Amino acid sequence: MTDQFAYSYPSPLEGYGDLEPLTDERNEDGKSLKNPDTGILSKAYEEFPDPVSKGRRGGFDVHIYHFQTNPDQVAYAKALHERIRREFPELRIYRFFDQPVGPHPVAMFEVNVFTPAQFGAFIPWLVINRGQLSALVHPNTDIEAGRSEGAEEERNHTQRATWLGDQIPLDLRLFKLWKEKERSQGEAGKRQGGEVVMNTVTYQISSPEVWNE
Ligand SMILES: [Zn+2]
Repeated sequence: MTDQFAYSYPSPLEGYGDLEPLTDERNEDGKSLKNPDTGILSKAYEEFPDPVSKGRRGGFDVHIYHFQTNPDQVAYAKALHERIRREFPELRIYRFFDQPVGPHPVAMFEVNVFTPAQFGAFIPWLVINRGQLSALVHPNTDIEAGRSEGAEEERNHTQRATWLGDQIPLDLRLFKLWKEKERSQGEAGKRQGGEVVMNTVTYQISSPEVWNE
């Protein structure tokens, strides 16, 4: 379970303080609430919200799991991998792993999405087409200078994780080791000015993409 108290959560109403109170007025259906018409669409339609990465890393990873000892799941996952490559060639997709890798406790393959439009197209498609397979959707975030990259990656894989299908417990040891290594290296082990200073040798954890080597 994620430690819900490990993080702070700014109020969702930050920046919305001095507005007319909302009313209980209903739409024509008599049930749904009438909202004030601002005429402005949320920026979230155009770009992922901060601190989700807008760069080449991809704002979200989608990890699609299968039990590698279950031949039915292996066959389905391989077919799904091929279908995604054919139907969504613009997405970035990595090779098909037949073994657990990184924090992923069973075999999987990974797809990256770069825009809200891609997310909006691919995730509903996957909800319908994932079969028995579970999928983890987790953000990649830009980390402020001086912040712990290991802690941020841990958060992205736990408190910020979203699941399609049954949740599969991740092996979080990598993140613990990552944070310990950062602590032992002090500031030099942290991201500085957007550069990844720490390159973890033993654990292949410097970035999720490394797991795909
Ligand atoms: Zn990932």
